[in-house]
Amino acid sequence: MRRDRVLVVEDEEAIRELVAFHLEEAGFTVVQAVDGEQAIALAREEELQLAVLDLMLPKVDGVAVLRELRKLGRLPVIMLTARTEEADRVRGLELGADDYMGKPFSPRELVARVKAVLRRSEPDAESISAGGVTLDLAAHRCYVAEREVALTLTEFGLLRALMERPGQVLTREILLQRVWGYDFYGDARTVDVHVRHLREKVEEEPSRPRLVETVRGVGYRFAQA
Ligand code: CA
Repeated sequence: MRRDRVLVVEDEEAIRELVAFHLEEAGFTVVQAVDGEQAIALAREEELQLAVLDLMLPKVDGVAVLRELRKLGRLPVIMLTARTEEADRVRGLELGADDYMGKPFSPRELVARVKAVLRRSEPDAESISAGGVTLDLAAHRCYVAEREVALTLTEFGLLRALMERPGQVLTREILLQRVWGYDFYGDARTVDVHVRHLREKVEEEPSRPRLVETVRGVGYRFAQA
């Protein structure tokens, strides 16, 4: 099995070594950087799956490093912050850090967070195809009979949820959870509205849907090819 490579950016040697030790114990390969400049250089050269990034760094600070990393691509980042750095922490999350930990932290907890972020960032599959529709999951594109159809994020998520289980009926409640998230207390009719928009884009005849079928009194189903 491939060992995931984690970049650990921290100028304080004791903390850096401690984090590296625990990550290696957990089966990761660790690449260490002692300042922001080195972190950016390593991120350009090395194949990495995640970065643990301290906010307070010499030369180039953590927020600037994060901004550089974001230009390079989609590398998951967990920020380390001191408790007093609330404003910077918020800035880090706004710039797209995936998680953060306040110092002092438990190295075991950090390892658990690293694993969780990696799980979240792993795509399940590259694409799904059924009934003449193909979803490119990485690029977020939808093709119907080879023609690209522009979908909103919600429509894409809806279609994906249905296409992952062709032939199976999904209730509006399940779709609300899967597409909008557990915290969304939306009206089930929200689903109907988005299904209608989705059909207008992907169905040949939206009034007589062939792909996204209504199952009366239950929910929706992607037609089995
Ligand atoms: Ca530091």
